[in-house]
Amino acid sequence: MKDIKNYTLEELTEALKDKGFPKFSGQQTFNWLYKKKVEAFTQMSDISRECREFLKKNFYVSGLKLLKKEVSCDGTEKFLFGLDDKNTIESVLIPKKNRNTLCISTQVGCKFKCAFCASGRDGLIRNLLASEVVGQYLGVSKLITPRKITNIVFMGIGEPLDNFSNILKTIEILIESKGIYFTKKRICISTCGLIPQINKLSDLNLGVMLSVSLHAANDETRSRLMPINKKYSLKDLMKAARDFSRGRRHAVTFEYALIEGLNSSLRDAAELAKLLRGMPFKVNLIPLNCSFAGFSPPKPEEANAFKDELIRRHIFCTLRQPRGQDIDAACGQLRAKHKHKND
Ligand code: SF4
Repeated sequence: MKDIKNYTLEELTEALKDKGFPKFSGQQTFNWLYKKKVEAFTQMSDISRECREFLKKNFYVSGLKLLKKEVSCDGTEKFLFGLDDKNTIESVLIPKKNRNTLCISTQVGCKFKCAFCASGRDGLIRNLLASEVVGQYLGVSKLITPRKITNIVFMGIGEPLDNFSNILKTIEILIESKGIYFTKKRICISTCGLIPQINKLSDLNLGVMLSVSLHAANDETRSRLMPINKKYSLKDLMKAARDFSRGRRHAVTFEYALIEGLNSSLRDAAELAKLLRGMPFKVNLIPLNCSFAGFSPPKPEEANAFKDELIRRHIFCTLRQPRGQDIDAACGQLRAKHKHKND
């Protein structure tokens, strides 16, 4: 038996066509699964009986198991989901004005070992399947009904571009007009800076946004915070970002976590402004979500001064406040707590 949620519309149509079923059977199935949210093949009433029987015999419909939900006093909601192999993943819903942004995970663990991140601490366990990534969207959508998810960011546990084929498949499923039909421009893929994959994504021209975790404006500090920088330097990363943004306004944002004593001085702001000068990029500044591995966020005055310095130097930026601090909302923390409790 195969999980039907790992199939794009094209793949499902092909599989059904191979068995002699008409092309529209795939579209009908997608419609039931993702628009009407019906998961029992027997209830898919406009599909022929033979086709329903075939689907029932050969496919199953997976769903993630909610293990825990936490709600922050600022409205941020965190969901811990259990997978079939007993691994766990997190998704975070961040409500803001008329937006509900869902931050989803793409891997169990992560191999990139950024110094400030709990997800990288135990290394990579495995890639998530497309069904498990789409499953987070479907699971949270159901849990928050009647509210709707308006934006999706691939910024949870894992490096999305290190799970490239499953993430492409996930996007294909999310934006399919016969199914979920999620707006491309409201999907953002985050990366620690995997240049070959950024270039591939650029060539594919999917219409989704890219967010690059920068966190430092020089190679020395960035390599200390993010070991991937030793392989792909800032200079090459900036070129890849420029290429990605060519012809697409506001397609790239840079994430910059402000860390006390490391990257948050006025001199650091000047260096960042120099690195980004003349480029159509936006910078999201965010004080580090909590103290971790000896790193702490700067004082609010220092964070504000950093932002003001960037603006003075004509860099388009926003200073965000960390969300869900009372519920371990920083990437990987709830999962890490659950894991250590159950070890
Ligand atoms: S910040 Fe992202 S890339 Fe770095 S270790 Fe954490 S999950 Fe991996």
